[in-house]
Amino acid sequence: MSHIIHRNLRQMPPTAVGGAGIVLRDSSGKTYLDASSGAAVSSLGHGHPDVIAAMHRQIDRCAYAHTAFFTTEVAEQLADRLIAGGPQDMGGVYFVSGGSEAMETALKLARQYWVEAGEPQRTQFIARRQSYHGNTLGALGVGGNEWRKRAFAPLLKEALRVAPCYAYRGCGEGMSLDDYTAGLLDELETAVIKAGPDTIIAFVAEPVVGATGGAIPPTPGYFQGVRDICDRHRILFIADEVMCGMGRTGSMYAIGQEGVAPDIVAVAKGLGAGYQPIGAVLAHEAIVDTLRQRSGMFQHGHTYIGHPVAAAAALAVQQVIERDDLLAQVGRRGALLRRMLDEVFGAHEHVGDIRGRGLFLALEFVRDRETKAPFAPEVKLHAAIKAEAMARGLLVYPMGGTIDGQLGDHVLLAPPFIVTPGELSEIVSRLADAVEAAIVG
Ligand code: PMP
Repeated sequence: MSHIIHRNLRQMPPTAVGGAGIVLRDSSGKTYLDASSGAAVSSLGHGHPDVIAAMHRQIDRCAYAHTAFFTTEVAEQLADRLIAGGPQDMGGVYFVSGGSEAMETALKLARQYWVEAGEPQRTQFIARRQSYHGNTLGALGVGGNEWRKRAFAPLLKEALRVAPCYAYRGCGEGMSLDDYTAGLLDELETAVIKAGPDTIIAFVAEPVVGATGGAIPPTPGYFQGVRDICDRHRILFIADEVMCGMGRTGSMYAIGQEGVAPDIVAVAKGLGAGYQPIGAVLAHEAIVDTLRQRSGMFQHGHTYIGHPVAAAAALAVQQVIERDDLLAQVGRRGALLRRMLDEVFGAHEHVGDIRGRGLFLALEFVRDRETKAPFAPEVKLHAAIKAEAMARGLLVYPMGGTIDGQLGDHVLLAPPFIVTPGELSEIVSRLADAVEAAIVG
């Protein structure tokens, strides 16, 4: 019996003992193609020698120094690099240890900004129904995933809600994408006006949705419209790029592809690429300047912020991405994977949608392609596909159809940026077998 409180308390997962490239190995010697990089984390694959060497060098030099007393060169270098390559006009970076902490930090930073700007009446966030922004109580309240929130609802501060941008289900028969997008933006602006724009801290959204729908890209113009509404009503726009950021969609930030810049952006998973736990929040210079000029501090902090070894890992990850031109590779390999998925699953009677950006792609499964009716939740098709895939030495990230009863089962594919064409074709072939076994079974 394990003393760890595992995700599944009734069943022990296999024990991971090693990894190289896109392959992970368990204690029985079985190998798995990591086609989801865990949960879109291991973007350089496993055992990358340059990242490991950078971590060793930093451990030897200075493994830890509390930020109440010190900064470190490596954290400063990482911050410089993130600002230089970040969205327009970012003025500062705050380091944390993961995605939930990053979102919690983003929410608190936005609130403190308004307090210091003399608008303390701003007390609520507006976010989307089909969303996930982290598992800590603040981030959980802003997210719209009812299943994750159920037990904790009385403890949460709920955000105001609008519809997600989810064309496959939201854009009805005969409706143009432009009309669909205009309707969503109209709903957002109406909600902002109804609540009173000066009561709202920020609009919070994931540019390409990861864990609550599977690689759902925005419709053209959606985020430009969001930016306009936020500007018109003087509310901040927080982009949650914990999953879709750091190159996963083919650009360092997914929101960059929409031609707009957020006021605050949170990143995590791909930042340390799994070599160390690290997340970061980038904030617009107006926010950083306001705090600098007023209280002179951000009222926040964790013991491990700016951890030097985590910063060294993240800096090395950034350097490898640039040196090996991996963003361009994500574009090319993503297009190839997309073609392979279209070929194998495009006409599949139970695959309703294939979508995503870069190496962040998903399949949505439906019982009926015509009506888009999902499989019954009790079938737990996503879990069955994950299990059948693991049995075949393949890791894909499963998601259930839970939100508003409107969402089918999904699997997310987010292989490391270094995946080869041969590995991609092996991934798709194993996935096809796993899907058949799960649906027939
Ligand atoms: N935001 C988004 C968009 C995420 O996908 C996740 C993790 N799946 C989080 C926040 C929370 O990140 P973490 O699990 O590192 O706390």
